[in-house]
Amino acid sequence: MRLILCVAIVPLVVLGACSSDKLDCDEGSHEMDGECWPNEAADTGTGTGTGAAPFFVTTMVHMEGGHIDDVDPDAFAAHLAMLRHGMSVADEYEAKLTIESELPFATAVTESGETILTDALAGGHGVGTHCDVGYPDPPASLIQFAALLEERKTLMDNLVGPENNRGCSGAGSSADWAQALIAAGFVYVDGLVSIHYLSMPPSARPDLSWTDEWIRSSGAFHDPAPYELEVRTHPFMVADAMDFLPDQDGTLLISSGGTWALHQQAEGYSCSDCAFDTDDATAAIASIEAALAVHDPTRVGKISFHIHVGDLAAEHAEALRAFFEAVDVLVTDGRVAWATQGEVYDAFVAR
Ligand SMILES: [Zn+2]
Repeated sequence: MRLILCVAIVPLVVLGACSSDKLDCDEGSHEMDGECWPNEAADTGTGTGTGAAPFFVTTMVHMEGGHIDDVDPDAFAAHLAMLRHGMSVADEYEAKLTIESELPFATAVTESGETILTDALAGGHGVGTHCDVGYPDPPASLIQFAALLEERKTLMDNLVGPENNRGCSGAGSSADWAQALIAAGFVYVDGLVSIHYLSMPPSARPDLSWTDEWIRSSGAFHDPAPYELEVRTHPFMVADAMDFLPDQDGTLLISSGGTWALHQQAEGYSCSDCAFDTDDATAAIASIEAALAVHDPTRVGKISFHIHVGDLAAEHAEALRAFFEAVDVLVTDGRVAWATQGEVYDAFVAR
């Protein structure tokens, strides 16, 4: 919403703010994403506040739409064991997992009466919804898209309460996923990937080579988004999915911090089936350092590691411990803090 943004902030910034490439912002404002923003910007969707803002390390564990927990008790039991093991190892380091569920796992939890999700909350971990809808084919209408998202949200709301289930990972689509998520009642979206660019015109994509066809066919559709590290490191509010620029009237937090999945850290995304080992822990710290290097201390920063549920299994304890242990050094030094996905949202709106 660049044009609307420019009109809206003209009284607050130098007049050149909307046209020149290299901005010379007024005292009292600062350059960000090609715009001048007032420094007291609590209502502009950027979360800029006074005082040093935290940098959060977060995780996502996606209980996928393609899982079979609802029809296969053994698969469900295996997932429960993985999650319980992962949380117990995380607890040793006061690290935080955020478990985000699509329909199959949430259905199985509902039907079995398992307390895994409320136990997670009681232990300081996070929960949320996972949304494997909207892609590859967009829903017929935004109303239908929102209804699909709401179906997933309602199931999780009933398990953990809407106050603990405020965001969804995924939901990328050629349809306006931000408006659909807002209509479904979500206040943040995480797990953003290149698929989320499909709703945007070519001018809002990283470059003109990012055609729909390329995003869909290149294997890059699961790459973290927004593309620019500085942009995806700092959450911001949007009103729609037309671009990755803050909207002043935005009510959905783009809470990315995306990086490769934890088990891909050493190898990169080109490795689709690589093992999770201690090399990934070392590489994960390099990813955190890269994000810290672009972190604007006036804004909440984050990185988000997607951990495959299988990588929480007991057989991966060594690699998991190596990861938590390495992050713990940064926590002890006061450079990063652990947060759930919901706590990132809370920190953003508190500024
Ligand atoms: Zn998924």
